[in-house]
Amino acid sequence: MSSFTESEERQTLRREVTKLAKTYGREYFTRCARSGEKTTDLWLAIGKAGYLGINIPEEYGGGGGGIGDVAAVCEELAAQGCPLLMMVVSPAICGTVISRFGTDAQKQKWLPGICDGSETMAFAITEPDAGTNSHNITTTARRDGDDWVLKGQKTYISGMDESKSVLVVSRAEDAKTGKLKPCLFVVPTDAPGLSFTPIPMEIVSPELQFQVFIDDVRLPADAIVGDEDAGLVQLFAGLNPERIMAASFSTGLGRFALDRATEYVKTREVFGAPIGSHQGIAHPLAQSKIEIELARLMTQKASALYEAGDDMGAGEAANMAKYAAAEAACDAADRAVQSHGGNGITQEYGVAGLLVAARAGRIAPVSREMILNFVGMHSLGLPKSY
Ligand SMILES: Cc1cc2nc3c(=O)[nH]c(=O)nc-3n(C[C@H](O)[C@H](O)[C@H](O)COP(=O)(O)OP(=O)(O)OC[C@H]3O[C@@H](n4cnc5c(N)ncnc54)[C@H](O)[C@@H]3O)c2cc1C
Repeated sequence: MSSFTESEERQTLRREVTKLAKTYGREYFTRCARSGEKTTDLWLAIGKAGYLGINIPEEYGGGGGGIGDVAAVCEELAAQGCPLLMMVVSPAICGTVISRFGTDAQKQKWLPGICDGSETMAFAITEPDAGTNSHNITTTARRDGDDWVLKGQKTYISGMDESKSVLVVSRAEDAKTGKLKPCLFVVPTDAPGLSFTPIPMEIVSPELQFQVFIDDVRLPADAIVGDEDAGLVQLFAGLNPERIMAASFSTGLGRFALDRATEYVKTREVFGAPIGSHQGIAHPLAQSKIEIELARLMTQKASALYEAGDDMGAGEAANMAKYAAAEAACDAADRAVQSHGGNGITQEYGVAGLLVAARAGRIAPVSREMILNFVGMHSLGLPKSY
């Protein structure tokens, strides 16, 4: 195998996921989105096939693979028109953090359900007043005997209605310094004091975002994941997987948009020849092909570095991949709409709906500006700008 080719095993995985995703397809995904149904059938099918927890250790019901494997699953689903945001959240962020820092009992409790899809876990860090500056979050955890009591508010939290629990980033008082330090807690979504309400979004997706209210939610001592004094390190451990997954979500979506456009311009005739014969149509699509392939390559590099244990190297590559993939997906979606002319705006052709989904990749889980800040500071050695 050359270092620029994925392993035979990973290529087979991609083919198998594609086959499964095709049995559902874009029509199923948009029908669920527009009727308010959930893609639970697809989610459980991915879980049953072993793809959902493919990155999680085998002893906890996973496939024992790496982040590149679960990223490939996410990308191929999106490439068939089924972009599942909860793939980024449940197995990749929550699954990674719990696998790396949870106790054996916590892993036994949560990982098998994350793998088979029966115990999906949401992830909540964003707060209305802190936004991008997650150092400013104010959700707090205070000790009460052996218990913890959580109070605060989160926003834009994906999939609360489909999840059994949510990994909440909170702050607890450090007994020694009195300062507030980040800590991670698993909170059941039906815990007394926890409530959530959907935010009306313009994305055509069955997966919704929520405002989450945490009003004196009482948790047992074992709800805290990992070391109380190392919350930041543990949180950072989830960031590279999050970025690699977000990049794969975007490259998959970009591929789907490009496939739709390419197929259309091969047959649509206006001046006596397929519109794809005009360079004004063909070149932007060719550009998208190049941009998506470059983003995929960087995503694969980030996965390989992460799997090799090079967290710093993976950090730079994962940020670059996430940036490049989101840009490529936005351009591909825009070009797909343009290639379809008026049909590009209809529900029948379903391409315009990709615009907002692709656009969200420029904002979440980390915005393009924060990636540019990272690259300016860490890759170029420029002064910190914020
Ligand atoms: C579809 C979707 C799903 C999401 N799912 C989740 C989830 O499951 N869990 C979760 O915790 N969060 C989730 N989020 C939240 C997401 O992570 C945030 O929206 C994102 O981090 C940006 O925060 P904000 O919306 O508060 O924007 P703000 O922080 O208000 O920023 C607004 C704009 O200002 C820019 N900006 C801010 N500071 C700087 C700076 N220093 N330099 C340059 N530019 C700057 C930002 O890049 C952005 O473009 C989701 C968001 C979306 C859209």
